Amino acid sequence: MRKITQSIPLMLMMLVFIGGSAQARGTKTAWRKLHKVNTTEDIAKLEPGDKVTMTCKKCDAVSMAEISSKEEAENMAKEGATYDCPSCKNVAKVSYMGPPSKKHRVVKFVDEHGEECMTMNVVHDAESSDE
Ligand SMILES: [Zn+2]
Repeated sequence: MRKITQSIPLMLMMLVFIGGSAQARGTKTAWRKLHKVNTTEDIAKLEPGDKVTMTCKKCDAVSMAEISSKEEAENMAKEGATYDCPSCKNVAKVSYMGPPSKKHRVVKFVDEHGEECMTMNVVHDAESSDE
């Protein structure tokens, strides 16, 4: 009998890691925290000038863009919108999870199998602290 539950703690550890920020010992580099976009509420909070990154989970390519308007932010995470990875052939589709009656829904970037294949993160200013 093989243990099939072994991968679940590993996945949780990875999620925790995404929430933290890196620190290199002995340097004064100001690392910026990234906040993962998880819900439509995170999208609604985006303001012009905010920077967002898209990370491809299949090849680790990261792209960055600056938000120019509220409308742009909303369109970026509109249900059904698609993203092409600049490095591999991965295409991610914006998918909302949970009942439509909920005010804020979970936003995922999924492949053709419904698996999360890209993540969107908001770059925090080094000066500002978490709310
Ligand atoms: Zn890719």
